[in-house]
Amino acid sequence: MPAPTDAVSTGETSLLRRACDIFVATFKRSATAAAAAPGRVNLIGDHVDYCEGYVLPVALPFLTVVVGAHNDTSSCRVVSVSDSGRQEATFPIPSSGQLKPGEPAWSNYVKGVVANFPGTVKGFDAVIVSDLPMGAGLSSSASVEVATFTLLEALAGSNVDPVKKAQLCQKAEHEFPGMPCGIMDQYIVTMGKKDHALLIDCRSLESTQVPIPHGDTGILVINTNVKHQLTGSEYPQRRAQCQKAAELLGFPSLRDATSEHVEDLKRRKCDLDVIRRAQHVVEEIRRTEECAKSLRVGDLERVGELFYESHETLRDLMEVSCPELDQLVAIAKTVDGVYGARMTGGGFGGSAVILVKNAAVEHLKRRILSEYKGTPTFLVAVPSDGARKLNI
Ligand code: ADP
Ligand code: MG
Repeated sequence: MPAPTDAVSTGETSLLRRACDIFVATFKRSATAAAAAPGRVNLIGDHVDYCEGYVLPVALPFLTVVVGAHNDTSSCRVVSVSDSGRQEATFPIPSSGQLKPGEPAWSNYVKGVVANFPGTVKGFDAVIVSDLPMGAGLSSSASVEVATFTLLEALAGSNVDPVKKAQLCQKAEHEFPGMPCGIMDQYIVTMGKKDHALLIDCRSLESTQVPIPHGDTGILVINTNVKHQLTGSEYPQRRAQCQKAAELLGFPSLRDATSEHVEDLKRRKCDLDVIRRAQHVVEEIRRTEECAKSLRVGDLERVGELFYESHETLRDLMEVSCPELDQLVAIAKTVDGVYGARMTGGGFGGSAVILVKNAAVEHLKRRILSEYKGTPTFLVAVPSDGARKLNI
């Protein structure tokens, strides 16, 4: 019996059955197409995708499943059932008028995808079910976008190039919810592979699968279950500060910068925040490349050290951590069998990721449960496949 603090993935088959049942109960006919897309956890490389750096995420076994059918109208009717309850939205397809963001807020993630899907979208009904926690830094947003996009491909009988698909879903998130995210989330959610992390070059948009060593070690995610309200304004500000640093150095992005360039910004007495952000990004890009190499050769000790270093610069230089994440990492650091721990994702709450020997997991959880001031949820991050169409 899992403890109440363990999140156990529902599995594709159960989610699909649930979605189909809700579809029949709601729309009085059967769905004709289905798609699934995972959430993700980033092992290392945070706040660098929008600087064209390297990131190293894995796709999770936790999923968004969407089922649907055309409805012979010029509207879309969408129902979502998740840990936030049941939500409904109806909106016109683009050909019957310019699609605009609006209420309810969650529907913008779906609308943005409909508006950006290549080719004509015919009116459809859809049901979304998900076992991903929302706003936990595990990318429920990209999951719902890419699942919706994949459903539209299934309904239209088309196949969009995966990188193009990730880019269109990113554009959807920029334009509709208005979140200026990088490419990482949509990319890994589209292209994740079982048993692998994906080293993504966010400049060339090329990627390499990195096998995750099997055996006695696993990836544990701990959801702090807190979301500080800063995210809305702070994320775009970090992005702008990084862009400012790149401009000061005469580069299109911080991908081109080295630690000498950061020293140059210091000598020029540039804004201290801008310098700090640049230093994190330069160090984090280098760490991410090294982490992928260390994973490949099974040097988990080094991977762990890089996790801690990454947490420290996210906390002190990027200033996107929070007391809850810092406390989880501090506790994990004192547990035998833990290689490394860090905050993951955008920050200001959300989740921590921990590389830990399987034999030490129960002890780690007990320590967290007795010492962590909040209410954590544990998720085992078994590296899983990216988005796919499902047979119905
Ligand atoms: P994260 O991507 O880390 O989970 P975000 O703040 O980027 O956090 O995205 C969370 C938002 O995405 C939710 O508040 C909701 O609006 C939307 N969302 C995600 N999954 C679903 C879903 N299954 N149904 C409806 N909306 C969803
Ligand atoms: Mg998101």
